[in-house]
Amino acid sequence: MYYVPDGTELCGYYECSDCDNRFLSLKVAPTLVCPYCGEEPNMEIGPDEEMPQIVESAKLIKMIEGEEEVEKMDALLSLAITGGDYNWL
Ligand SMILES: [Zn+2]
Repeated sequence: MYYVPDGTELCGYYECSDCDNRFLSLKVAPTLVCPYCGEEPNMEIGPDEEMPQIVESAKLIKMIEGEEEVEKMDALLSLAITGGDYNWL
């Protein structure tokens, strides 16, 4: 498994509207901070500095349920990342 641990039975399938990356995440929410182009909040910023804007650009496309389904999506997405055959769309 590439995105989620072995045995995961429920995860979210996301697509980023900024960088077009697709990925799976154990976090399930309508939108997420993109792990590729987004930035998690930086808690070490001083009080005088401007808060960076957190953009949740990755949108939930669908929930993937069932260990087999999760494993299948994970494999397909990993293949796309590693330059394999991704004519599955
Ligand atoms: Zn992105």
